[in-house]
Formats: sequence, structure tokens, C-alpha cells
Amino acid sequence: MTAQLNPRGDVAVLVPAAGAGVRLGPGAPKALRPLAGEPLLVHAVRRIAAAPSVHTVVVAAPAADVEAVRVMLAPVAPVTVVVGGAERQASVAAALAAVPAGPEIVLVHDAARALTPPELVESVAEAVRSGHDAVIPVLPVVDTIKEVDAGERVLGTVDRSALRAVQTPQGFRRSVLTVAHAAAGDPLTDDAGLVEKQGVPVFCVPGSEFALKITRPFDLALAEHLLAAGA
Ligand code: C5P
Repeated sequence: MTAQLNPRGDVAVLVPAAGAGVRLGPGAPKALRPLAGEPLLVHAVRRIAAAPSVHTVVVAAPAADVEAVRVMLAPVAPVTVVVGGAERQASVAAALAAVPAGPEIVLVHDAARALTPPELVESVAEAVRSGHDAVIPVLPVVDTIKEVDAGERVLGTVDRSALRAVQTPQGFRRSVLTVAHAAAGDPLTDDAGLVEKQGVPVFCVPGSEFALKITRPFDLALAEHLLAAGA
């Protein structure tokens, strides 16, 4: 049976957590690396579970760690754990297949964005509830962006005012995400990309600095500081 969080909620959150985390250096799969003594995944799920709209959480874990992840998350929240895939997209598809009947809003949230506040989960869900089929949290791009060729020679300067850095959770009307995954071709790095390919408009809402993706050792150090400061 699928574990339920808030039976009155209308949101299922899928948490792909099956990546190796090569850019973080050698060690456990990324979602299981410790941040202030607890795995990134525990931090992420705790914040998701604190969002009142969340009915169901499905985590896609590395095949070798499914049982350990179940045990690890049991005291945090009622969560369903499935085996992830070789690519992020396959992990999301596996989690989506485990969502029970009920929630009509599906959010996809990287375990690596471990400090994402519950308020961001709610604001993405609310934007879907209010009528948008697909919603992404974004931040403005602060650096100047250059396009370069294979030899690192600058080809041009991109107008950053039209660019956004995209975070998760990304939110979808359930039927829209299901159709997009069924039609998916080459793996993409986010789910909104699949939905865009279906011609579905994607709407942006303000993201959060706390939803940073913990990818490199520097990000882990930054996240430790943010936690110590109360994040
Ligand atoms: O590799 P990347 O940083 O883009 O991974 C984003 C998220 O997708 C991470 O939470 C990671 O654990 C997850 N992932 C996954 N299955 C894979 C690869 C990545 O669930 N095969």
C-alpha cells in the first residue's frame, strides 16, 4: 500500500534520489551524503512533508539502497520508496507510476535541493491549482552569460534579462506529466522540458535561494552554513 501523508492533500511529490553524485566527489549516492549529520534526502523529505497540501511522497532510490532509504525515512514521514533508473528521467517515471489515485497535482523535486522551504512547495502547487498545467520556480540570472565554441572562444554575449535559472519542485497537472513521460524520447534534465515538447505552456513563479542544488563540495559547505543559520 502507498503511504499517505495528508489524506486531504491534493499533491503528490516525486523525489528522484537515485543519482550517483559524481560531481560531489567519491562516496555514497548524492542524496545519501550527510549534511549536518543527516542525509540530504532526509532534509529534503522533512521540508516536503511540512507542506500542508502534500498527500503522497514517492522517492526513487538507488537499487542497492531501497531498504536503507525506507528505514531512514520511516521516522521522518510516511513515504513510498521505489527503485530509480539509470537516468533522472527514468527515476521520475518510476516514481510517477507509484502515485495512487487521488492527487491531481504532481510535483517533481530533486533530493539534491535539500533546503527547499515548504512555502515553495505550496506556491508551486497553488499555481497549478489555480489553472496552470505546468509551473517552474525560477531565479533571475545574475552573472553575464557568454556563448562559447569547443575551443572556449567567445561567440557572443547572451541577453540575460530574458534568462532564468530553473529550480525544483516543478509542478504539473497529473495528466499532463503522465502524457509527457509516456511520450518522452531522449532523457532531459528536467520535467518541464518534456512538457514543453508537448506544446504545453510552462508558467514561472519566484524560486528561492534556499532551493539551491547541492552538486559540488562548495554547495555542501554553503548548505551547512545556511542550516546553522536556521534554514
Ligand atoms: O545529476 P543531477 O544533479 O541532475 O540529479 C538531480 C536529481 O536527480 C538528484 O536528486 C539525483 O539523485 C536524481 N537522479 C535520479 N536518478 C538518476 C540520476 C539522478 O534519481 N539516475
